Amino acid sequence: MKKLIFPLLLLALSFFCSAQQQQYCRVKIYTGPGGLQTLIHKGVAIDHGYNDNNKTFITEISLKESAILKSSGLKYDVLINDMAAYYVAGNAKAVFDDGSQVVQVDCGTYPKPKNFSSGSMGGYYTYSELLAILDSMTKKFPKLISAKKIVSANYTTTEGRPLYYVKISDNPAKTENEPKILYTALHHAREPESMAQLIYSMWYLLENYKKDTTVRNIVDSTEMYFIPCVNPDGYVYNETTNPNGGGYWRKNRRNNNDGSYGVDLNRNYGYEWGYDDMGSSPYTSSDTYRGPSAFSEPETKMIKEFCDNIKFTYALNNHSYGNYLIYPYGYGTKTYTPDSILYKQQANRLVQCNEFTKGTTIQTVGYTANGGSDDWMYGEQTEKSKIIAYTAETGTAYDGFWPKKSKIIPLAAANLDMNLNLALLTKQSVYARSKIASSTNAMQPTIAAGTLYNSPNPCNNFTRVYFNLPQQLQMANAMLIISNAGGQPVLSQKVAGESNAFVNTTAFTAGIYYYFIKAGSYQSETKKLIVVK
Ligand SMILES: [Zn+2]
Repeated sequence: MKKLIFPLLLLALSFFCSAQQQQYCRVKIYTGPGGLQTLIHKGVAIDHGYNDNNKTFITEISLKESAILKSSGLKYDVLINDMAAYYVAGNAKAVFDDGSQVVQVDCGTYPKPKNFSSGSMGGYYTYSELLAILDSMTKKFPKLISAKKIVSANYTTTEGRPLYYVKISDNPAKTENEPKILYTALHHAREPESMAQLIYSMWYLLENYKKDTTVRNIVDSTEMYFIPCVNPDGYVYNETTNPNGGGYWRKNRRNNNDGSYGVDLNRNYGYEWGYDDMGSSPYTSSDTYRGPSAFSEPETKMIKEFCDNIKFTYALNNHSYGNYLIYPYGYGTKTYTPDSILYKQQANRLVQCNEFTKGTTIQTVGYTANGGSDDWMYGEQTEKSKIIAYTAETGTAYDGFWPKKSKIIPLAAANLDMNLNLALLTKQSVYARSKIASSTNAMQPTIAAGTLYNSPNPCNNFTRVYFNLPQQLQMANAMLIISNAGGQPVLSQKVAGESNAFVNTTAFTAGIYYYFIKAGSYQSETKKLIVVK
C-alpha cells in the first residue's frame, strides 16, 4: 500500500473527544522528534498509527488519553471526533463485495477466495461466526485443515473461553516432521482486519491447493498453525458494546479489582517484561497495562505453552494498523538482534507486495515497548528454540482500527503475498539456517560506497542516518561519529545492529558537518551533513 494522500477531513471542532467514556477520536499530533516519547511516557497507547518521519503522528485515542494529549502542550488536529459513529455512518454506504472474481494488488492479480464472505459486525466476523468459519473450512477441506482444537488444556480465559487453533497441512490430523509456522491475530481486540486478512489467506490456501503449485508446495511441506483470536474475551466485549463494529476495547477482560479491567496481552510476555515504562504501563487503567507479572494472563500462558510444545521456526503476529512489518527487539534501546541482517533481508522480500515499512518498533512506529509477543518468541531461547517472529500492522492510518467493509478485501488481498512468502521461508527454513551460518564469513568488512546517507539533508532539528553494517560489525561497538567543519567531534552514538540512526540536531548550530561510522579498526566513508536553522 502506498502512502495515501488523503483529503483532509479536518473539522473545526471546538470540543475534543467529549461525551461518553468509550469515545475514541482520530488525531493528527504534531510530535516533532520528542513528542511521541512524551506521550508514551504518560501512558498513551500509540503503537498503532502512522508516523510521518517524527514530524506528525496520526492515531486514534480515548477520552482519557485525549486529556493527556491536551495537557502535554503538543499541537494537534482532531480529524474525527467520534470514531464509532464515523465507522457506522461510513459503513452504511460501503459495499463489501464488488462482485469481481479477482483482486488486483500492487504486485499482481489473485483469484478472490470464493468462500470468503462478510461478517455481521460492520462486515467483520463476530466470535461465533469465526468459530463457525473454522468448522466450515474443516468440513469443506478435511484433507487440508484440521478440526479446530484447543490451544491448551490447562487454561481458559478470565471469562472461561479456550483459545482455538487449526492447522493447514497435508495430513492435517498428524504431526509430521515438517517446518512449522504460527500465525496469530487479535492479541488486541479492536483490530478485526488482522483476523479477516488471515481468514482470507486461509481460504486462499485451501481453495488453490489443487490448482497452484506454490500453494501445494507450501501445504505439502510445512505445518501452518493459525490462532485467529488470541483475545476472545476482549473481542466479545466489543461485540457487546458495538454490535455493528467500532468497538475500541483493546485489552483482555481481567478484573483489576480497582474498578479497571484488562491487561494488554502484547505487553505481558516474559522476555524483558517491565524493562521500563516506555510503551508498557504499570497502571491498571492504561490501555498498555502490562499486568501484575510476566505471563500473568491465561491467554499469554496458553501461547507460551503452545510455542514451548510445538517447535515453530517462524511466527507472524497480526495487528492493525499502520502498514508496518515489525521485528525484534521491541524493548529498550537494544533495537537489534544477532539476526538483524536476516530479518532485514527477509522483510524486504515479505513487503514487496504490500509495501509495508519494515524494521524494529523504534525504526517503524518510532518508540519502544516491552513484553511483546515477538521479543519473547525470538528472545527466549532456553525453554524453546528461537522463533523468527514478526508483527504485521495492516491498514493505513486512515483505515484505522475498523476499516470500512469496502476495504476488508483489498487490505486482505494485499497481505496474501506476505503470508504466503513467510510460509515459503518456513518451507526453506532448514536450508536458510545453514546458509546464513555459512554466509557470515563470506561478507566483506566494508560498507559499500553509496550506502551511507542521511535524510533529510539539509536538516533542521533532526535527521536520520541510514547505513548497511556488515554482519561482523553488528555486534561490535559500532559508532556513528559526527564532526564539525573544523574536525572536532560534536556527537557520537552507538549504532551496532541497526540500519539507521535518529540524530537530534537541535543543539547544532547552522553549518556543515561530516559523519562516518567506526567499528573497531574499521571506518566507513565520510559524508556531509548540512544543518540549517
Ligand atoms: Zn495491536
